[in-house]
Amino acid sequence: MEHKPITAIFPGSFDPITNGHLDVIGRGVQLFDRLIVAVGQNPAKEDLFTPDERVEMIRELTRAYPRVTVESYDCLTVEYATRIKADVMLRGLRNLTDVQYEFQLAMTNRRVAGIETVFIMTSEEYGFVSSTMVREIALLGGDVSKLIPRSVNDLLKRKLGEKGLPRKA
Ligand code: ADP
Repeated sequence: MEHKPITAIFPGSFDPITNGHLDVIGRGVQLFDRLIVAVGQNPAKEDLFTPDERVEMIRELTRAYPRVTVESYDCLTVEYATRIKADVMLRGLRNLTDVQYEFQLAMTNRRVAGIETVFIMTSEEYGFVSSTMVREIALLGGDVSKLIPRSVNDLLKRKLGEKGLPRKA
């Protein structure tokens, strides 16, 4: 039987990308023919990095994966997924709170756009990592170097410096 190439979209705000996101990308790339990391805007969250900065960071970190592409979008996620003809939506799960939220989101997306969602459980060591927590700790001068890639930590330090918020680590 002929194999139809499967394109997955991994949407998120990635502000900034964490070791948890990278873990999901590393697993997802083994399951799909193409994986599109799509950087979107979450109206409920205030930006730290611009969408372009986030795309650039993720491109750099996924350079070793030829099947991964990174793009940004500013419409509804399902609209973007349909436009790029994604077959499935990839989302990461950390805990039961994620399951509850993601369950509702996946049901809605299937109902309104007919797109299926595939979930990947993060590895235990990143189960507690979120971009929101990284931003909060960093803005208060804390050390987040174990939660995000080194290149992201360097850019974070620079960003906080620009905002007049020096970092300890
Ligand atoms: P959003 O604002 O759309 O939730 P995020 O950038 O916060 O975007 O997350 C994007 C996806 O990555 C979501 O499916 C989220 O559950 C998942 N994710 C975030 N952090 C982790 C982590 N540490 N391990 C696994 N999945 C994660």
